[in-house]
Amino acid sequence: MDMKATKKLGLKDRYRNQTRGLHWDTTYQPMDEVFPYDKYEGIKIHDWEKWEDPFRLTMDAYWKYQAEKERKLYAVLDAFNQSNGHLNVTDARYINAIKLFFAAIPLHEYMAHRGFAIAGRQFRGVGPRVACQMQSIDEIRHMQTQMHTASNYNKYYNGMHAVHHQLPRMWYASVPKSFFDDAITAGPFEWMIAIGFSFEYVLTNLLFVPFMSGAAYNGDLGSMTFGFSAQSDEARHMTLGLECIKFMLEQDPDNLPIVQRWIDKWTWRGTRVLSLVAMMMDYMLPKRVMSWKEAWEIYFEQNGGALFKDLERYGIKLPKCALQGIEEKEHISHQLWAGIYQWNFGTSVHSWVPSDDELDWLSAKYPNTFDKYYRPRWEFWREQEKTGTQFINTGLAENCQVCQFPMLFTEPGDPTTLCHRETHYKEERYHFCSDHCKEIFENEPEKYIQAWLPMNQLPQGTCGGGTLEGWMEWVHLVPGQDNGNFEGSQDQANFQKWKGQVTGNN
Ligand code: FE
Ligand code: ZN
Repeated sequence: MDMKATKKLGLKDRYRNQTRGLHWDTTYQPMDEVFPYDKYEGIKIHDWEKWEDPFRLTMDAYWKYQAEKERKLYAVLDAFNQSNGHLNVTDARYINAIKLFFAAIPLHEYMAHRGFAIAGRQFRGVGPRVACQMQSIDEIRHMQTQMHTASNYNKYYNGMHAVHHQLPRMWYASVPKSFFDDAITAGPFEWMIAIGFSFEYVLTNLLFVPFMSGAAYNGDLGSMTFGFSAQSDEARHMTLGLECIKFMLEQDPDNLPIVQRWIDKWTWRGTRVLSLVAMMMDYMLPKRVMSWKEAWEIYFEQNGGALFKDLERYGIKLPKCALQGIEEKEHISHQLWAGIYQWNFGTSVHSWVPSDDELDWLSAKYPNTFDKYYRPRWEFWREQEKTGTQFINTGLAENCQVCQFPMLFTEPGDPTTLCHRETHYKEERYHFCSDHCKEIFENEPEKYIQAWLPMNQLPQGTCGGGTLEGWMEWVHLVPGQDNGNFEGSQDQANFQKWKGQVTGNN
């Protein structure tokens, strides 16, 4: 072949050759047996060729872009680590926001990596296969860069040494764990809605923007840099999620009710996971970026609202749970931090009562609810601390069978009553935090009765034998070092000492 005569192909054609051009239909085995999973969820696809490639990025271009981003990221991380950048954060309480992030996110980036590899294998259409493969590679990079950033903090501060043991065992970490377990054990199309659409498209801004702006506001250059490095991949991921949903809806009208149910389910599951972000924004950042309520209004009500408006032409409706999310934006951060505070022996973060100026900030940001319901409680708990009678809750709250949060959220419309729902299935009783989690269970009971719930296991002795000491060992917590109050902690003392060495003469 005369290479000189070959005209250089444009990106679109090159991408087409890379995807459609490399595909063949199997003949030794029927296609249905080679790809058994892309039909069993009930989604009907008539023409895989109609899939619009969302990434339009060839492998050579991809590796070049990513390598450039890695070089920049690791140059910043190196400089940050070598100059003891961790001592430049606003105050050592901030490190607990980092602990929360590293407890909940990097291992799920890895799950996303696995999940997209699995979904990629399961689609018989080659366009989505290649897109999933590329996102899968992005996701393992996210896990690696986050772990590398965390490892520097782990050298100096407590509570980050055993994330892989704690993720399934610790009550608040099992919430995101169950979200990803649920997604990865679903079929490939539901996975695409769960992660590609609900997580990446509807909710990701509520996760990444607060954490990365939080890092920037609080002097954490390392986390800020990996955040930006991951965020530019997110643009591709969001496109994939949206493309997949439009593809399903355009292929067959029978797909609409299935897709709607998945959107309802995953928007709610995501909203519940985001309670952790809400708490981080309102309580754990010494220098606040914005309140959870403001973030929810911008990213969910405005941006998400516009998206669902756009999807109306396919018959998609705003998820039912959105109304509860709007009502709860005034409450969840306060309720969850109160949970972390009263069970703070069972966490790998430190907790504290907000300072006076922080209470004032919360009063100003939550004029409808904070002074009425939450400020008096914090002031009371602060008084108790002063008199040596701090409130520690050694009781066990019931876990929600679906989202796995303990029952600490309140009844919609009644913030003084805990919300609790239950249902019977095969002569067993199951508990839920909300109508939405109950409905998710009732749609797929055989899936959720298998859930492993930390609180239910404790009395059965499967979590270190049934004693508190046994449990501490089992979750790899060093009592008094990894958990408990920030005030008087080793983290606090070390930070002060090291900071003094950098800025003074002792
Ligand atoms: Fe990611
Ligand atoms: Zn729930």
